[in-house]
Amino acid sequence: MIKKVAILGSTGSIGQQTLEVIDLFSEKFQVLALAGGRNIELLEEQTRKYRPGIVAVMDPERARELRLRLGDLPVKVLEGLEGLCEIARLSQVEIVVMAVSGVVGLLPTLEAVNAGKTVALANKETLVAGGSLVMRAAREKGAIILPVDSEHSAIFQCLLRDREGISSLLLTASGGPFRGYTKEQLRRVTPREALRHPNWEMGRKITIDSATLMNKGLEVIEARWLFDVDYDKIQVVVHPQSIIHSMVSYIDGSVIAYMSVPDMRIPIQYALSWPERWNNNWPKLDFFALREITFEEPNVKNFPCLDLAYQAGRIGGTMPAVLNAANEVAVKLFLQNKIGFLEIPRLIEETMGHHQVISNPDLGDILESDQEARQRVKALAK
Ligand code: NDP
Ligand code: MG
Repeated sequence: MIKKVAILGSTGSIGQQTLEVIDLFSEKFQVLALAGGRNIELLEEQTRKYRPGIVAVMDPERARELRLRLGDLPVKVLEGLEGLCEIARLSQVEIVVMAVSGVVGLLPTLEAVNAGKTVALANKETLVAGGSLVMRAAREKGAIILPVDSEHSAIFQCLLRDREGISSLLLTASGGPFRGYTKEQLRRVTPREALRHPNWEMGRKITIDSATLMNKGLEVIEARWLFDVDYDKIQVVVHPQSIIHSMVSYIDGSVIAYMSVPDMRIPIQYALSWPERWNNNWPKLDFFALREITFEEPNVKNFPCLDLAYQAGRIGGTMPAVLNAANEVAVKLFLQNKIGFLEIPRLIEETMGHHQVISNPDLGDILESDQEARQRVKALAK
């Protein structure tokens, strides 16, 4: 059977690797729709190759330009957030790969879930900000959410055997490029240094999140929603080699771990092949070449973002949306060289401190809190 897919964020790191997987199994897929943010050069190339009937570009001006460039093809070019939402709910689409970066993925994800689609979800900011809404809608509409994030794909696979008797989920973390740095060293790190991740090639935003450990914090909240487990039962273990992608420990003392080479195409492929497994020709784990695998505790004193995420998650309501929005803006300011690395957690903490939490928020509350947090960080950074 041919799987009909739409990819939101097809021009990004996850989006391009999704298309690589589709290339390898081209007889199994039909690409019905693609969407990107601003990179219309790549989106044009992808459209000419995969021939989707519909594409969307977030930036309206670029959408107009893409329309001109693709004038010779029978393709509809949509624009803006509404364009992304329209693609997410297209009636012929079965699987929506959600690979945009940032909370901008929340509305399209809700659209896809409300339309009963299977969502291969890479975009963690969506679950951080709107986890309760997305999971409730998925339950009501019977939509399946399959994790693409490597840790969550790992846990999903560990749980295929036993969902009972879990004592904790153990999320592994590489520790990022600054593992072992002192506060004094961290004060002076540059965006260029932060963008050099030891084990993964990813988009800029998530690469900075990996350096601050906020990525792991966002993943803790993502795990809480995907697997319906309390924060007390989610633990982070630093494992610099990124071979074990996460583990589940059980009440009888058993621990089930998932291992693979660090290659995002593997969890992407699994989300697309599930419930089957497909053969590929990528490098496999070579245990004799693996000299060691080691573990250590995360250093939350030097990397406070992890604790801030736990705090926001435990407070709940609109607080995780505020954490996420503050982080998105702070990361952007850091990448623009406007603030230092250690200002990122400081701005997030202050923004959280100003927020009046709304418990059981609706979509409007979440979007408003997100906007308020963005304004707050900009004001605090001045
Ligand atoms: P990239 O920055 O490489 O790509 C982001 C994609 O989203 C691009 O297609 C980009 O479009 C699009 N985009 C960015 N901003 C907007 C916007 N405002 N509106 C619409 N589209 C937008 O990111 P990644 O692929 O690395 O990450 C994507 C998501 O997956 C993130 O949530 C990340 O946390 C998650 N993830 C990524 C992993 C990885 O290995 N890369 C691993 C696990 C999770 P354009 O480039 O055309 O502007
Ligand atoms: Mg991850």
